[in-house]
Amino acid sequence: MQTVSNAIEFGQLILERVLPTARTVVDATAGNGSDTLFLAQRMSAEARLYAFDIQPLAIAATRQKTKDYADRITYLLDSHENIPTEVPGEIDAAIFNLGYLPGTDHRVTTEAEITLKAVQGVLQKLRVNGVLVIVVYPGHPAGQEEKKSLEEYFRLLSPREFTVGCYTMMNHTEDAPFSYLIEKVRG
Ligand code: SAM
Repeated sequence: MQTVSNAIEFGQLILERVLPTARTVVDATAGNGSDTLFLAQRMSAEARLYAFDIQPLAIAATRQKTKDYADRITYLLDSHENIPTEVPGEIDAAIFNLGYLPGTDHRVTTEAEITLKAVQGVLQKLRVNGVLVIVVYPGHPAGQEEKKSLEEYFRLLSPREFTVGCYTMMNHTEDAPFSYLIEKVRG
């Protein structure tokens, strides 16, 4: 089994460390529900998971995939830019798996301006030692824009407050998916 050859799996390795003690968890792009299921399976029964997507079919698929954990999940047919108003308190762990849902309309994709606003919203609410994982797909135009705007923003984030890492595949093509891994280090 591969463990670091895939940008999502690498992010999951990091999330696995914080999920057992997390109280508030966010899947900002629920899609088919695979990431939501991953989070729900690893957090405690007392934690609450907020799963966002703007597509009804994505929320329906996520509900179906995670039905065994439904009592600990709040499903939101809503844009992730509304995380600050929809998610109470501090966030321990969050993931954005950007881009479009495979097998559906590729025009419904995450967009740089909204993604940046949503990421800023999560960072405002991230608990000290909380972790945010963002999987980026620079192989399509909207993904390129997201990469550019997130990179500009992250380079200016205070290292006293956040550590921002980036996991890229050095020997894959330039448009291979990669992950940003952000930890809040101080309040
Ligand atoms: N995490 C998913 C999974 O495990 O199957 C894959 C996510 S897919 C790559 C990206 C998702 O982001 C799509 O389902 C799309 O509808 C959703 N999306 C696009 N813009 C959004 C927004 N503003 N707020 C929340 N979700 C959004």
